Amino acid sequence: MEEVAKIFIVEDEKPIARFIQINLEKSGYKTAIEQNGRRAYERIMQEKFDLILLDVMLPEMDGFEICEKVREVSDVPIIMLTARDEVRDKVEGLELGANDYMTKPFATEELLARIRGILKRHTERVRPEEDHLVVGEILIYPERHEVTVNGELVDLTHKEYELLLYLAENKNHVLSRDQILQKVWGYDYFGNTNVVDVYISYLRTKIDDRFGKKHIHTTRGVGYVVRD
Ligand code: CA
Repeated sequence: MEEVAKIFIVEDEKPIARFIQINLEKSGYKTAIEQNGRRAYERIMQEKFDLILLDVMLPEMDGFEICEKVREVSDVPIIMLTARDEVRDKVEGLELGANDYMTKPFATEELLARIRGILKRHTERVRPEEDHLVVGEILIYPERHEVTVNGELVDLTHKEYELLLYLAENKNHVLSRDQILQKVWGYDYFGNTNVVDVYISYLRTKIDDRFGKKHIHTTRGVGYVVRD
């Protein structure tokens, strides 16, 4: 990366926020800290951050709500932080569009590794010269987070969009369910692998069935592929 990434630490426990800040700055990142949920949300809307570390339990607005609202307008990488080691929290955070999830207390090295990985994937994906991706009649605009078919806007959830984007980035290459699961749901996704099949069926309904042309193909025993 050419520029130094700026990371927003949203955490109401001062010692934890400060500890994270010291470690991130030691690794060369710029940082900002916010302890209040509502103010954090307002700042995310106004300032440019490259990644957000988002605590769940916060005063005035919790991390889930912030994540959901931010995702309506931005694909800035978000890592949820929580003290509660509950699968339900984790699934909810990821469903709302968080890129990753860490349970406190966590090792600093682990956090730094996740941050590096997410920033790398994010900058690789958002290449400014790539205005949009094309699969037949489907156009995908990563910067605007929009998908059109025959020029008509298609309403997709965050996960549906991520899945379609990943398939489109690999047009004509068959992707296995495991590859898709790792890329779209994250390495430590905790749940049924059928989730891939379920989301493929959502996409088929919203795109192939609705517009009467097949783009999403099943390769039996292997996985899925999109073709023009
Ligand atoms: Ca908290």
